Amino acid sequence: MEKEKKIEYIKEKGISKLVLEHENHKLERNKQLEHYEDVMYQCGKCGTCRTIFKEAGWERVCPSGEFGGFEAFYLGGKNLLTWGITSGQIKWTEYLAKIFYQCSVCLACTQQCQIPEIHHYAGEWLMAMREEAVRLGFGPMSEQKRYTEHIMKENNPYLEKHENRLDWLPSNIKQSPDAKLLYFVGCTTSYREQNVAIATAEILNSLQIEFKILKDEYCCGSPVYMTGQTQKAKKIAEKNIEIFKDSGIEKIITSCAGCYRTLKDTYPKKFGLDHGIEVIHLPEFLLDKLNSGTLKFNNQINMKITYHDPCHIGRHMGIYETPREILKKIPGIELVEMIRNRHNAWCCGSGGGVRSAFKDLSAFAANERIEEAKKTSAKAIVSCCPFCLNQFKTHIKNNEIKAFDISELVRKVI
Ligand code: SF4
Ligand code: SF4
Repeated sequence: MEKEKKIEYIKEKGISKLVLEHENHKLERNKQLEHYEDVMYQCGKCGTCRTIFKEAGWERVCPSGEFGGFEAFYLGGKNLLTWGITSGQIKWTEYLAKIFYQCSVCLACTQQCQIPEIHHYAGEWLMAMREEAVRLGFGPMSEQKRYTEHIMKENNPYLEKHENRLDWLPSNIKQSPDAKLLYFVGCTTSYREQNVAIATAEILNSLQIEFKILKDEYCCGSPVYMTGQTQKAKKIAEKNIEIFKDSGIEKIITSCAGCYRTLKDTYPKKFGLDHGIEVIHLPEFLLDKLNSGTLKFNNQINMKITYHDPCHIGRHMGIYETPREILKKIPGIELVEMIRNRHNAWCCGSGGGVRSAFKDLSAFAANERIEEAKKTSAKAIVSCCPFCLNQFKTHIKNNEIKAFDISELVRKVI
């Protein structure tokens, strides 16, 4: 579409503003890079995206920028580089691609920026730059290529065998083969945080909910999509949807933040695969059952805890209060907040392919979050994402604080 540009004088502010008579004024999500080319230039290089805007003492928010130590790694720099690419002023290089991959796509930066287009859409062009890197052969990073190859062969990124995916499943878990409700376990839970899978299945059994687990569950495709490999991820999604439909699934519960975002949001909105299956995250299901009186807490846990907002549930999907409401209802639990919470939460450093390709950055982010949690004097960090949980358990030293998934705590008190 032809772009018309005009200058508009804004009398009340005494300034002139370039107005783009273009579809950019009704920007859409999940588009390719050129869709955003006339908006990322609006970055004023103010640096506000580095720290929490106004609130909480200007604490820092960007693991990529703090670790990289240079403007290019913050959102302002990434906007400028993206503008340079779309306007043809700079060219792709391996190092440029690395800057965009050395970012967990946590979106904490976008929450701070007060420019509406950047605030609402910068996450889209951070992803679109990864897609473009893949298209031009500069991405993904070699470790991400390796796990993608494994996903295409063995359906998980952990270099594990597909046939071992259900090794976690105890024989006492009761499933209903004809159930229309699926518990989608996910790769991290199946292979690395089996306690979460067991707790979730036991909670469902204790509520006498009819559900099933797929014998042949495959990766949801999130690690592939988040590294810019959209076409490959879409193929995975198509295969999964076919299996869901063949199995008569009408509703999916998942205990994984990444699977939830992918199944609920990415499949229909990015891939255009409107599967029509209801997808809910375990905490939403649990709170619903608590509020209706079906789920009751009969025991107590005397512990001070702090809650870590997973990026894929928080900023990516806007769920902040549901897990907190559950935690506050557990008898004996005292919930204290870290300084950076909800939309300002510091990322654990595992997402966006960072944990596999940039181990030092990933460890830096995790350690900073663990230190922040310790400052609250909480005895445990609780989250509702197995990837965050695994990240914390990997980096907590000397048992100085514990890490739990919300399902594990709920399982203990029912
Ligand atoms: S992205 Fe937003 S907050 Fe960051 S430098 Fe640009 S205008 Fe400022
Ligand atoms: S998405 Fe997260 S890591 Fe990436 S630039 Fe923004 S705050 Fe930094």
